[in-house]
Formats: sequence, structure tokens, C-alpha cells
Amino acid sequence: MKTVKKCPVCNSRSITLWMGAKLGIQYLCKKCGYHGPLVIEEDSE
Ligand SMILES: [Zn+2]
Repeated sequence: MKTVKKCPVCNSRSITLWMGAKLGIQYLCKKCGYHGPLVIEEDSE
């Protein structure tokens, strides 16, 4: 099943992986600038 990642702040799909050096994998929203480990994952269908 495919999922799509969404920003928890602005709900946009412009989420990209953002590698924090020490914090591990985080995500970056290109739209509002949010970054952190939490994103919303929804079914894409
Ligand atoms: Zn956002």
C-alpha cells in the first residue's frame, strides 16, 4: 500500500527528507519551513 507524507503544520505534500547530522532522519516541508521527525502519512488512494 502506498502512503503519502504530509506536513502536520500546513498539510502540504511538499515534504522532503532532511538528514540531521546527529538527530537522524527528519523531514522538511518546502512550503512552510517546518522540519522535524513527525509527518502525517496517509493512503494515497
Ligand atoms: Zn508545511
